[in-house]
Amino acid sequence: MSASHATPRVLCVSGLDPSGGAGIAADIAACQALGAHALPVITALTAQDTRDVRFVDAVAPETLERQLDVLLADCQPDAVKLGLLGSAEQVAVIVRAIEALRVPVVVDPVLRAGGGFDLADAALLAALDALLPRIALLTPNAAEARRLAPAATLAESARMLLYKGCANVLVTGGDENDDDVVNRWYAPAAAREYRWPRHPEVFHGAGCTLAAGCAALLARGMTMADAIQSAQAYVAETLARALRVGGGRRIPGRS
Ligand code: PLP
Repeated sequence: MSASHATPRVLCVSGLDPSGGAGIAADIAACQALGAHALPVITALTAQDTRDVRFVDAVAPETLERQLDVLLADCQPDAVKLGLLGSAEQVAVIVRAIEALRVPVVVDPVLRAGGGFDLADAALLAALDALLPRIALLTPNAAEARRLAPAATLAESARMLLYKGCANVLVTGGDENDDDVVNRWYAPAAAREYRWPRHPEVFHGAGCTLAAGCAALLARGMTMADAIQSAQAYVAETLARALRVGGGRRIPGRS
């Protein structure tokens, strides 16, 4: 690899959030802060503010395919991060495009916005299911884990996702009611718990920041354990210096 190609690159596939709190803007900022370069590919334009999503216009699968084909013919990513996906057809396009890449794929299953807007239909959920065997790390919050794999307990949901082929699952607990935020990492031969102080407010874009952070650190060659630990520590820092950019939730201060 020549020195001019030494920058770790993360293919970030997500939607545009005009508030800059979540989506592709979050991915770009998190990658940059953690020493990687984002290759941003757009799945959807959204109308949203710091309170909630109001409207999603998924790009046509052909447009997504063109973005990926042209980009990947030139740039070789070292990791892939998927966020908001606009349709089941888009998932098929992405699977085809990343098939030949032998790099870790991190997926933040964006099923519902923090403000409550539903971002996934049954067809998209089924397509995500078929994507699981290609995923190195899935980062659902507790509600998303339960929706992807309904079971009696959260641990069983995570184990079901592993059983379906996902290599690692990090279930985040920001949306649960524990005193601390408890994030749980599940792998076929391991389970580990991380506790972080809970802030008295809910943020906009924390999940995107965590998944993009993990992808950036994996692109830099970190082990999964180190990437998961360091990306959470980075998110904790960004929340400690969160920014107010609108009248709703604050966003992580990523740089
Ligand atoms: N909009 C886009 C484009 C996103 O990618 C996401 C989350 O990943 C959201 C909105 C929702 O973000 P949050 O749940 O943090 O408000």
